Amino acid sequence: MKSYKIALIKGDGIGPEIVDEAVKVLDAVAAYSGFDLKYEELLMGGCAYDITGDPLPQETISGSLNSDAVLFGAIGGEQWDALPREKRPESGLLRFRKELGVYANLRPAVVYDELINASSLKPEIINGVDLMVVRELIGGIYFGEPKGRDEEKGWNTMVYTRNEIIRIAHHAFKIAMKRDKRVCSVDKANVLDVSQLWRDTVEEVAKEYPDVQLTHMYVDNAAMQLIRDPKQFDVMLTGNIFGDILSDEASMLCGSIGLLPSASIGDKIGVYEPIHGSAPDIAGQGIANPIATISSASMMLRYALGENEAADRIDNAIKRTLKEGYRTQDLAQFDAKEICSTSEIGSIIANYISK
Ligand code: NAD
Repeated sequence: MKSYKIALIKGDGIGPEIVDEAVKVLDAVAAYSGFDLKYEELLMGGCAYDITGDPLPQETISGSLNSDAVLFGAIGGEQWDALPREKRPESGLLRFRKELGVYANLRPAVVYDELINASSLKPEIINGVDLMVVRELIGGIYFGEPKGRDEEKGWNTMVYTRNEIIRIAHHAFKIAMKRDKRVCSVDKANVLDVSQLWRDTVEEVAKEYPDVQLTHMYVDNAAMQLIRDPKQFDVMLTGNIFGDILSDEASMLCGSIGLLPSASIGDKIGVYEPIHGSAPDIAGQGIANPIATISSASMMLRYALGENEAADRIDNAIKRTLKEGYRTQDLAQFDAKEICSTSEIGSIIANYISK
């Protein structure tokens, strides 16, 4: 029997609740499909700081690098916001991504037919939306030097090297080749020199993919177009901060941030995680939507383990759950037949795996 080692990082807030449901579904699909999953739990975020004094202990890095894939919940919370920046959960997460070299963040935004009324946009605008944001994850303004602050000013620097742009652009074009063969590269080249380098470099890489149609869009226009006509997009290629913002915007096309998964991929081990944060406002209440994390587990099976049929089973079980009208609180007002807790939704999805 094939066996895979999964590093589990549950994190803070709703992290443990949603990861537990993903594990429930993974165990169901592994049993059905005939492979074995071995989990190793690792600490990161505020909970890691509380126990070890470090939001990213060394064992978490080595344990992750020693696994086949990482399934991640979310980190952060107000109680850690006053810590020095390098001790904060978010710094641990940025360092983690850098250590694992996960430079490509794939964020699909697919509108489920069953939730067509859950979006704040009209059904005819969002019906059939299926786009993929390919976001550069370990460069740009979140990492650039110099950065700092004093009493009077604060500063960060948006830096991209040609090699960083080439690497993420190839990733986006390769994904587009498997989809509708359209890449829209998002930048702010009318104002930022770093964006002009981005645009020129993406143009160069595009020459190697003659079957893919490349367009460019300024980020402010992209924010507007995503709401005006999201179906015009297939693959959106973006830098770190622009992708962070646009993919949250894209999540609202789908109805709830609790639905959107992501995969962060590099040359080593991939990290699979929902796009949302630790949602401290609802943590511990059993009302978080676990679907983004369960869907991230499906991406993990597909991208990291090559278990495509098992991934399809999870995707279909999620669709069926939504079709039958089972909803968590965040989607309660949209054609709900029954309002379920986090754990109930996980169990329903796990149950549909074999049906
Ligand atoms: P958030 O994504 O945690 O929450 C935003 C809103 O969406 C909240 O109202 C929350 O209740 C809701 N929400 C999020 N996930 C949900 C789910 N699965 N089901 C139902 N509702 C859900 O963003 P925030 O409030 O800006 O940040 C909270 C903390 O999370 C902060 O400490 C932030 O730094 C951290 N954060 C972590 C990550 C990560 O771990 N990757 C990402 C973003 C934010």
